[in-house]
Amino acid sequence: MSGQTEKGVYISTYGCQMNVNDSERIFSLLEMANFTPVSSPEEASLIIINTCSVREKPVHKVHSEVGRYRKLKETNPKLRIGIGGCVGQQEKERLLKDLPLVDFVFGTDAIDLLPELVGRVEEGEGHLSATRFEYQKPYQIETLVRAPGVSTFVNVTKGCDNFCTFCVVPYTRGRERSRGLEEIVRDIKSLVSRGVREVTLLGQNVNSYRSPNGGDFADLLEQVALQSGLVRIRFTTSHPKDFDEKLVQVISKYHPQVCEYIHLPFQSGSSEVLTRMNRGYTRSEYIEKIAMIRNYLPQVVFSSDAIVGFPGESEEQFEETLSLVEEVGYETLFAFKYSPRPFTKAARFGDQIDETTKGRRLTALLEVQDRRARQLVERYRGTTTEVLVENRDEKTGLLSGRSSQNKLVFFEGELDLIGKMVFVRVTEVQPSVFRGEMIGDKFN
Ligand code: SF4
Repeated sequence: MSGQTEKGVYISTYGCQMNVNDSERIFSLLEMANFTPVSSPEEASLIIINTCSVREKPVHKVHSEVGRYRKLKETNPKLRIGIGGCVGQQEKERLLKDLPLVDFVFGTDAIDLLPELVGRVEEGEGHLSATRFEYQKPYQIETLVRAPGVSTFVNVTKGCDNFCTFCVVPYTRGRERSRGLEEIVRDIKSLVSRGVREVTLLGQNVNSYRSPNGGDFADLLEQVALQSGLVRIRFTTSHPKDFDEKLVQVISKYHPQVCEYIHLPFQSGSSEVLTRMNRGYTRSEYIEKIAMIRNYLPQVVFSSDAIVGFPGESEEQFEETLSLVEEVGYETLFAFKYSPRPFTKAARFGDQIDETTKGRRLTALLEVQDRRARQLVERYRGTTTEVLVENRDEKTGLLSGRSSQNKLVFFEGELDLIGKMVFVRVTEVQPSVFRGEMIGDKFN
């Protein structure tokens, strides 16, 4: 076939940072098995769809993407198609039955088995499935990134035990498991030796991290700050119920190495809705936590997640979400309409909200958020911020990097500044993106 690479792998990735990280791991593992990443399905001998089931119609999306490859498979019978990620985990063999074009399905715990699985498929075995959770095995991995760049992500936990009633993650990623503290520190040191300067510690709920040899997330953060040689450390996602004072003390002790940016999802501003969501905190407990964090870190910036139209959410309860957004002041908010997910308790609640109401509430929430965020970011105009330079934008030729508060900052500068920390005076502000002028570099 013209344009096709003999062992070329194309990965189509949906969903969250966890999935993006998993795709990077898949690429690295397959490179070790002599595959070369290619940039289009037409060039590939192996297509992997790394799916997500957090948002709407995930199975439908998989069906339509596989359908698009029908012609390719007809012209190239050697083309193999695999489905991984949360939909693979959730649907298992059913996908093989419903989609005969698919050669194999693998779950979120089976990524490291991929080279073996692909090898078997290449040998002629068909319709393979590997979707068991490996609870007996300790969670030990080395971060595999091909070209780690300046900033990268490092998994510290996987899975979740919280069973929020709207969320499919405990079913698609399994029970929570943590990597060993020493192993994570070693892993990060090795990334630093490859030029990484910033790491985001990643988990579905990083605050419930527990090292098998003892140590909680605050201990891990402290050891990473002390031992890794990183200039910046971030972490996500935090759960309000597990975010304790010890952790804030560590952030405050190691700031600015540990960034002043905390993603703390509230989901709803109504205590009744939070109870039905099984979130484990009330509105006032959430607000107290915000106050406790601000007490230690007066300059901290918060971002959050919110769901509107959760089953049974009344107009008054929705208004409480609006008032929480006004009160706390988030510079970034990821807001979604509730949509039922398979296996979850809330999907079976009888008082589902109609789509028109959900849509109206989402628009209203986004309007409040946009106004609030624009007010909040005005304080940065004319100030100087430290930026870790990550890239040069192809189109504009401008350098870009992030501030401690996770703002993407664009400015003019030389290519050799990539990887360095520089001072930028902020001249234009949007809620998440700034424009500025470099006024000097830091001792790097
Ligand atoms: S904490 Fe709740 S929302 Fe987050 S991954 Fe776990 S179950 Fe899902």
